[in-house]
Amino acid sequence: MKYWPSSIVIVGGGTAGWLAAIVLASEAKRMNRHYDITVVESSDLGTVGVGEGTTSVFRHLLTHFKLDEFDFLRETGATIKLGIRHKDWRRLGHHYDGPLDVPEMLTGPGLDLYSVSAGKAVTDSHLFQHLINFNRAPFAYKENRLIPAGPFHHAYHFDQVKAGAWLRRQAKDIKLIDDQVKAVKTGPFGIEVVTLASGKELSADLFLDCTGFRRVLIKELGAEWLPYGDVLPVNRAMPFWLELEDGEEIPPVTLAWAQKNGWLWQIPTQQRYGCGYVYSDNHISPEEAKAEIETVLGRKIEPRNDIKINAGRLNHAWIENCVALGLSSAFLEPLEATSIHGTIVQLLMLSALLEKGSFAGRNQYNQAVARQVDDFRDFIRLHYVSERRDSTFWQDVAETHPKTVTDWLEFCETRVPQQADFPAFPLGLPHVGAELYLPILDGLGLLDKAAAKSMLADQPKLRAVARKTQEQLVQEYRAASTKCIPHRTFLSSLAQSR
Ligand SMILES: Cc1cc2nc3c(=O)[nH]c(=O)nc-3n(C[C@H](O)[C@H](O)[C@H](O)COP(=O)(O)OP(=O)(O)OC[C@H]3O[C@@H](n4cnc5c(N)ncnc54)[C@H](O)[C@@H]3O)c2cc1C
Repeated sequence: MKYWPSSIVIVGGGTAGWLAAIVLASEAKRMNRHYDITVVESSDLGTVGVGEGTTSVFRHLLTHFKLDEFDFLRETGATIKLGIRHKDWRRLGHHYDGPLDVPEMLTGPGLDLYSVSAGKAVTDSHLFQHLINFNRAPFAYKENRLIPAGPFHHAYHFDQVKAGAWLRRQAKDIKLIDDQVKAVKTGPFGIEVVTLASGKELSADLFLDCTGFRRVLIKELGAEWLPYGDVLPVNRAMPFWLELEDGEEIPPVTLAWAQKNGWLWQIPTQQRYGCGYVYSDNHISPEEAKAEIETVLGRKIEPRNDIKINAGRLNHAWIENCVALGLSSAFLEPLEATSIHGTIVQLLMLSALLEKGSFAGRNQYNQAVARQVDDFRDFIRLHYVSERRDSTFWQDVAETHPKTVTDWLEFCETRVPQQADFPAFPLGLPHVGAELYLPILDGLGLLDKAAAKSMLADQPKLRAVARKTQEQLVQEYRAASTKCIPHRTFLSSLAQSR
C-alpha cells in the first residue's frame, strides 16, 4: 500500500529550513498533493550567520518555482556570482578562475579537449570568464529592455540573514512557531513527539532536522558523524566584514585567496564584503590567524566569530521518519560553496522519492547523499595540489595527497577528463562533473597537452569543428562582455526600478 506523509515538522529556520519549506510545499502543489508544514525556529538561538555564496542551482530553484530573481537581488542586497577566483593556490602571484557557465552544453563535446591540446586556457571559451575579466553582469540592454547575455545560469552572493528572511517571505501556507525544541521522544518508527520550551507538543509523519550544528533531532536516532579531518586540512573559520567603498566596482566573483595556513574568502554583497579566514589550528592559533590576515590586508579586522569546523557527514542523513538537512547533515569548508547547493539537490531528491509513496526511497537517498558529500570532499581536496612550500601548512598539505586525488593525478597523465568519466547522479540531479573539474585541473597546471592531442588524434573532424567553435566563442564572448552592463550599474538600476 502506498503511504504519503501528510504532516511535516521542520525544526530550524536557517537557510536549510526555509529552503525545505519552499521546495516541499511547492513540489507537493505541483503534484496535486498537500503537506501540512510547520516550521519551528528559535529567534533566541539565531542562525549560523555565514554562508553567502551559492552555485547556479540556486537560480535554477528561483526559476523552477517562479520566484522573482530581481526582487531577490533588490530586497536582499545580493550580487551576481559568475564563478570563483582562486588566487595564490598554484603558486604565489598566480590566479585562475572557475567560471560557472558550461559552454559544452551548447557546443557538444570536444571544446575543452581542443583547448587543452592547443595550449589554450579552457576558460577562454566561457562567457562568464570574459564577464569576470570586465566586472560585468550577464545582462545587456536591447531597445531599452534588459536581456540575458546567454542561456547560462549564474549564482549569487548574499547576506545570509537577509536571504533567509526573503526565503521565509516566499514560503506560503506554512505554520511558524518561534520556540525551542527541548525534548524528543523516539519510538520504533523514529520520532514520535517533540516538546517545545512552551510545553507544546508536536507530532508529524515526517520530521526535518534543520537545526544546524546542534543536530537536535537526528542525534536522538543514533546518527553517526563520519569526520573528514584526515582528508581536509583546515578546521576553523574566522568570519569578518570589510566595507565596500562608495562607487567601488563590485566583482561578480568570489575570491578564494590561499594564505600561509589556509585560505581567505571575500564575497561582495551590495553593502559590504563578507570575508573569512579558513585555517588550520594545527598550524596557527586564532590570534596568529587574525594577525596573519591583518598583515595581508594591511588593516585591522574585527572577527565576528571563530567557528570550529568539524568537516564530515552523517552516516545516514535519513533515519526512520527524520531527515537531516543543511549543516546538521554535513559540513565542508566553503571553498566551492557546496553546502546550500547540496541542500537544494537533496530536497529535490527527497520530494521525488516521497512522491513514490512510503519511505521506501530511504536507502537510495542515503546512498546518494553520502556519495554527493564524499565527491564534494574529494573535489575540494584536489584544490590543495600546489607548488607552494612556503609554510609548514603547505609542506604538510601539498606533499601528501589522499588516494582519490592521486588517482586523478594519475588519470590526468594520459587523459583529459570528459563528462563520461563522471557517473550520472541519481534522478538526473546536478552534481560535480567535468565542467567543475576542468577549470581547476587546468588552473593548477595538471592537464596534459600531449594526452589531449592523442585523444583527438583519430578524430580530425571533431578537432577541426572544436577549433573553429573555440575561436568563434572567444571572439563572440569578448565582444558580448563589452556590451554587458557593469555589475554595480546593473544592481543600482534594479534598486531604482523598485
Ligand atoms: C564559515 C562558514 C562559511 C560558509 N559559507 C558557505 C558558502 O559560501 N556557501 C554555502 O553554500 N554554504 C556556506 N556555508 C554553509 C551555510 O552556512 C549553510 O549551509 C546554510 O546557512 C544553512 O544552515 P542551516 O540552516 O543548516 O543552519 P543554521 O543557519 O545554523 O540554522 C539552524 C536553525 O535551527 C534553529 N535551532 C537550533 N536548535 C533549535 C532548537 N532546539 N529548537 C528550535 N530551533 C532550533 C536555529 O534557531 C536556526 O534557525 C558556510 C558555513 C560556515 C560555517
